Amino acid sequence: MTMSERLAKERRARLAAERHLEWKGRELAAANEKLALQARALADLVVEERQSARAARSEAERLKGQNERYMGDLDRAHTAAVMAERRLRTSLDVIRDGFAVFDGTDRLLLANHAWRQAFDGAGITQGMSYPDLLAALAAHLAIEGPLDLWIATMLDRIAADDIPPIELPLLSGRWIRLEDSRARDGDRVSLAVDITAEMRLRAAVEAIPDGFVLFDRQDRLIICNSRYRDLYALPPDLAQAGTRFEDILRAVLAKGLHADAIGREEEWLADRLAEFRHARGSSEQHLTDGRWIRAQDQPTPDGGRVGLRSDITTERATQEGLQAARSAAEAANRAKSAFLANMSHEIRTPMNGVVGMAELLCGTDLTEEQRLFAETIRSSGEALLTIINDVLDYSKIEAGRLVLHPEPFDLERLVHETAILLQPQARAKGIELIADYDMFLPTRFVGDAGRLRQVLTNLMGNAVKFTETGHVLIRIVGRPEDTGTIRLHLTVEDTGIGIAADKLDHIFGEFTQVEDAANRRFEGTGLGLAITRRLLDLMQGEIWVESDPGRGSCFGFAVTLPVAEAAIAAPVPTSLRHLLLCAANPTNRTILERQIAPLGVDITATRSAAEALDRLRSQPQDAILIDHGHDGLDGLALCDALAATTPSRRPASILMVAPDALPAAEVARHSGHVDEILVKPILRADLYRALSRQIGSALPTGPAAPPPVTIRPMRVLAAEDNKTNQLVLAKMLRDHMIDLRFADNGRQAVDLWREFRPDLIFMDISMPELDGCTAAREIRAAEAGRAHVPIIALTAHAMEEDGAKILAAGMDRHMTKPLRKSLILDTIAEFRPPDAHFAAESLRAQAAASAA
Ligand code: ADP
Repeated sequence: MTMSERLAKERRARLAAERHLEWKGRELAAANEKLALQARALADLVVEERQSARAARSEAERLKGQNERYMGDLDRAHTAAVMAERRLRTSLDVIRDGFAVFDGTDRLLLANHAWRQAFDGAGITQGMSYPDLLAALAAHLAIEGPLDLWIATMLDRIAADDIPPIELPLLSGRWIRLEDSRARDGDRVSLAVDITAEMRLRAAVEAIPDGFVLFDRQDRLIICNSRYRDLYALPPDLAQAGTRFEDILRAVLAKGLHADAIGREEEWLADRLAEFRHARGSSEQHLTDGRWIRAQDQPTPDGGRVGLRSDITTERATQEGLQAARSAAEAANRAKSAFLANMSHEIRTPMNGVVGMAELLCGTDLTEEQRLFAETIRSSGEALLTIINDVLDYSKIEAGRLVLHPEPFDLERLVHETAILLQPQARAKGIELIADYDMFLPTRFVGDAGRLRQVLTNLMGNAVKFTETGHVLIRIVGRPEDTGTIRLHLTVEDTGIGIAADKLDHIFGEFTQVEDAANRRFEGTGLGLAITRRLLDLMQGEIWVESDPGRGSCFGFAVTLPVAEAAIAAPVPTSLRHLLLCAANPTNRTILERQIAPLGVDITATRSAAEALDRLRSQPQDAILIDHGHDGLDGLALCDALAATTPSRRPASILMVAPDALPAAEVARHSGHVDEILVKPILRADLYRALSRQIGSALPTGPAAPPPVTIRPMRVLAAEDNKTNQLVLAKMLRDHMIDLRFADNGRQAVDLWREFRPDLIFMDISMPELDGCTAAREIRAAEAGRAHVPIIALTAHAMEEDGAKILAAGMDRHMTKPLRKSLILDTIAEFRPPDAHFAAESLRAQAAASAA
């Protein structure tokens, strides 16, 4: 190669290098330019980045703030939640009942203190499985049988949808009831309640030997004991709490257990339910298996019912046995009483002869000694009759054969008559017998007058018997009742020996006499008050006694009697204006004043003869009434003094009340004049009558005397087969100017009735040929339309049935033998027709005659 060639080559190479450099330079410039652009873009980006970083930073800071706030809230919420849970736990622990929660797998989530304590703090821990927990509990429980079995049963129990409650006995003696229920999320809440008190109560209820049952206000069973279930053989499901009473009844009805429900079940059910709702008390149920149940139901304060049911089958059987024995004993007693009654009846018939004849004998001329003998026969006979009467009455009451016969009667008269009968005994002892009949009280009542008389006679007789000095006061008051009846109070007060307080309770018992030596001098059977009490029982009355030993007694009785229509009023002395009363005894003065007060008379009461005479000087009087008594007031002396006063100052009439009929001789010994003497106690009507009589005749304005009537002797027919009795009656009526005829039997009586036309018939009951009842019936049939002849049956102490028979036969009343003269005379007087006459002696005349 030449040098040129090499130089050309080199130049070409240089030129190529230069061109490459130039291209590279351009390329570099382009790269630089691009780089510059990129750098600018990058710078922009950095700016932008920086801006967004700033924004991000501020956002981050905002978020951080917010986060911090959230965190604060969260913290507080957490604290609150922790506190709430703590409070909840504390509260749960405070609850007395046990409370536990188990999760869906039956692990213990929580249990309050009570729940753990319920099981005596068994090793219970949170998270425990249920079987483990049961095993822990079992150590404290009194379980019967193997543990596994018990745990299996307990697990089965909680598997049920509706978990049944269970009662668990603890070894400590307490009882716990578990009540579990499942929540919707699967958790299980368990309550443990201490039911020891309830179980004690249940044990007590169970221990009651009778059936016990308690229902709530809706009649749902709360509790019953097994005795109750057994009595009605109730199946266990019916004996559960909550069962309605009606369902229990229906179950029992279905078994046909109630004898009285057979065939009328629905009706019975309605009745029983109504009875159960309203009854307070007991009823007896007869079961078809022969048992008797006594059901007692009572309301409870909350409106429920508590009931007791007792099996009284044996009790009833015993009762029936006793009843039968009692009936037998009563029948025997009645037979005994009937025997006694018949015996006394039989004894009375001959006694009639003894007493009657002795009475007649006493009326004849006798030597002192003979009189003593005859009097003794009479008084002994009478004493014996009193005893027989008591025994008879008592046996009649005992035999249930004493029946009351109510009829209209005059109570005041009855009291008066009783007092009159006792007056001789009282007089003999010197005691005052005073009757105070409330002046506002009606006198006529409807009642058994005979039995009331018996009561009064007994009480007043005892009062006289047991009193030596002072008085016997009978007081009659009454209180009207709405029913038109009057509650009468009769009291007999005496100033006698009295009765010791410890004897008062027994005084009305049979054969009771106050036993003390002093008392034995009194006669008596000790039956009087027992009969009195029984009679008052029959009259639905009551009797009582108060006594102050040594000072006196007061026997009282009350009976309710209907008022009878007023009897014909006693005549009222209309012309009497001023009456001077002179009575030393304050009781007598008050009674007399009260008796006269209704007449509207101006009464001047004085206490002594001197006072009376003094008053007479200042005020003229129509009449003077003097109480000639035991208190030192000598009525007869006052009469003498009156006779000595100026005639113009002397009262027109002088009346005197005296404890007994004053002997004519004694009156005659005084020059003074007495118009009328009344024997105490005085009947109001008698006093009015006496005043009318005296004032009427003494004052010119008095009523005219009735026209005289032709008088014939009274005709009396006595049908009596017994000759002794005929003799007694004939002698009794001998001096009384009575036309008396005898019939020996009923047949004769009817015949004599036709021909003799008697005013009154005494008819014996048991007579040959035709008995008294038949004869009376024949007479009644024959006299139809004509005048009614009074027929008095004579019985030897009639039993009640005889009494009814007698009245049914048309007889007017009956009288009991032995015949008492006074009673016969009273009866004759009562039935005396206006135109007939008989020589009735007044009590006063009789007494005066016997005393003279
Ligand atoms: P008796 O037939 O013995 O009188 P009662 O039954 O009438 O029987 O009386 C029983 C007893 O009560 C009497 O024996 C007497 O002891 C007592 N007694 C009754 N009334 C009175 C009285 N008024 N004062 C004192 N004691 C009386």
